[in-house]
Amino acid sequence: MKIKIGHIDYKYREVDIVNRQDPFQVGECDFTNRLISIDKTRSETEQGEILLHELIHVIDEYFRIGLKEKHVKLLGHGLSMVFCDNPSLQELFVDRLKKRQENCH
Ligand SMILES: [Zn+2]
Repeated sequence: MKIKIGHIDYKYREVDIVNRQDPFQVGECDFTNRLISIDKTRSETEQGEILLHELIHVIDEYFRIGLKEKHVKLLGHGLSMVFCDNPSLQELFVDRLKKRQENCH
């Protein structure tokens, strides 16, 4: 699967081992190879949170925001918390962003 972020296409993959040097790493975004890797042994909920976290890293890199790891973690947890506590928000976003998507093509 591809994830388009700005003008860059990232390849998304779910793997058994994200990083052989760090066996505890559950997600990674490789800016050079344009690759987002997620530990597929994690629960689906965790995988969703990990993907959100990695997407924040990629957006940070794309716009050169300069977020610290702590900020990425807090934003990821915060967004995950809000979406989890407000399931109807997910539908609202999909509906509202559909118009933006139509204007992109
Ligand atoms: Zn991180």
